[in-house]
Amino acid sequence: MKIVVNGKPAGTKETGCAICGATWGEYYAEVDGEKLFFCCDICAAEFINMINEVKKRAGWERVDEIEINGNYYAGRTCVAKHEGKEFKFYIRFGDEGEITTFKVLS
Ligand SMILES: [Zn+2]
Repeated sequence: MKIVVNGKPAGTKETGCAICGATWGEYYAEVDGEKLFFCCDICAAEFINMINEVKKRAGWERVDEIEINGNYYAGRTCVAKHEGKEFKFYIRFGDEGEITTFKVLS
């Protein structure tokens, strides 16, 4: 999965946490068969919940690419891509990484 957080590649120890871009911490989780780097377990929970929600709503079996813009407090505006299709949405999370707001954008 290609991941871009606030304009920069992310998802490895070198590039930063797959959802917030932080380079501190060290937590790995497997998403769609790929080991991704996160700063903490909460960020991993956020990312996994987000990808599952996108797959469910868009009816995709996987997400090939995701662009994430924003942060925890403001919420995040994202574009997910799969086989040439795009799915745009706005998302916010709660303290445990659960989704508190999810809006499909056109
Ligand atoms: Zn993070």
